Amino acid sequence: MELTRSGSNLITVDEKDWSLRFGEPGRDRFTLQCAEDLFLVTGCCSINELSEQSALPSRLRPHVSEDGKEFSFDSKTVIPFGSEPSVARKYKMTDHVMHLTTDLIMRTSLGMTELNAGDFHIRGKIAKVLIFGSDGILREAEGNILYEESVPPLSVIFQSESGAMLELSTGEDVWRWSAAERLGGTSCFRIVKEEIGIRYTRELFHWIPQKDVQPPPGRVWRYNSLIAWSGAKASRSRRPSKPKAVLDCSTTDWGKGCCKESGEVCFAANGTVNILKKWLRSNLADLEKGDVLLLDNVSVGPCLSAAHQDRPGKKELLHWDLNALLEFKRWAEKQLDRFGASLKIIPAKNCPVRDFPSLLAR
Ligand SMILES: [Zn+2]
Repeated sequence: MELTRSGSNLITVDEKDWSLRFGEPGRDRFTLQCAEDLFLVTGCCSINELSEQSALPSRLRPHVSEDGKEFSFDSKTVIPFGSEPSVARKYKMTDHVMHLTTDLIMRTSLGMTELNAGDFHIRGKIAKVLIFGSDGILREAEGNILYEESVPPLSVIFQSESGAMLELSTGEDVWRWSAAERLGGTSCFRIVKEEIGIRYTRELFHWIPQKDVQPPPGRVWRYNSLIAWSGAKASRSRRPSKPKAVLDCSTTDWGKGCCKESGEVCFAANGTVNILKKWLRSNLADLEKGDVLLLDNVSVGPCLSAAHQDRPGKKELLHWDLNALLEFKRWAEKQLDRFGASLKIIPAKNCPVRDFPSLLAR
């Protein structure tokens, strides 16, 4: 991945079939061109009545990994009004996938009344919108209001006429996106058709005023997102003909603590990752160049087990395990690269997200 800096704030990444521009006017917004006919423009966050649009220019500190396959950077904008809340972001990118951690940082003296994660504007020739809901079902959205709920969809897929796809997913922490009710407020996630393109608004918190009750004190409100995209010609990974080793997720004995209510394994559970890493390490000793390890029959989806989020005190916390699976893949590839070997993930036939860009990405 090659990135270019111009001035202190503008960063561009130009790849063969996609490009990305950070730091365009409006601060901290970026524009992603996924394909000739599919674009994403991201908007600013806001905290109470203060928009990030009025924030001071952000610090950008890009870092490219040694092998050039990954780039990351941190940014921070300060809104120079009131109690000076700020927005800190960590971007981590590999080819066709971006992980984004956002912190809305407020002083406790600030009474929290409105928090907005910023809008997404999707432009281009959009042929189809698919919603993967927190019920684990994938459906095609129809009408002018494509989605309106207090919980965000785990994923939305925008497919263009050329067949390119843009995936906007929450991170693992869906519970952080939908925490408003616990704090005496509401949240609202809407995806609406507009004259030009589609707008996805993400209202994290809206305070419902009550007599003699103060709004909750400010805090650091963190949430994770994942953005992935694929071109018109993207295709699913082929099943390797002679894998060196296979771990079949549908027949492995994971143990009860690693599973979702459905009985399927949850990749967000620490126990699951330990089993996967142990399997991979046990195969490192006799690897040869070109060997392929196969993780077969993989499925990801919603899970409620609070223990998987390291909060066993809570009973239920809605999360999902796509990010944890991708994180394992990233770790595994680093180990295998040294031997010239690789890992292939083959989704299960009934996995609703099997053709999503984040799973197609190499
Ligand atoms: Zn889980």
